[in-house]
Amino acid sequence: MSDKKNKHKTLLELETGDCRWPVGDPRSDGFHFCGAPQMLGRPYCITHWPLSFVPSKGRQSASTSTNSSASTPAITGPVRRAA
Ligand SMILES: [Zn+2]
Repeated sequence: MSDKKNKHKTLLELETGDCRWPVGDPRSDGFHFCGAPQMLGRPYCITHWPLSFVPSKGRQSASTSTNSSASTPAITGPVRRAA
């Protein structure tokens, strides 16, 4: 099984103009970026740009339903710190 025909990219493989939408858990092996062509002037592709406006709670098309806040680049939620 090769990922070669996938457009999915790792951080190192991302190039200018590639969608930077993170897919999966950054701490797990399958983590990658979308890698589709970005919309003009946007950091994400046409699929993911609208999603960047959706609070992570409402996201349903992500690979996992329990999305960690670490994978939501555009949205800053409340951060809990250990006292
Ligand atoms: Zn994308």
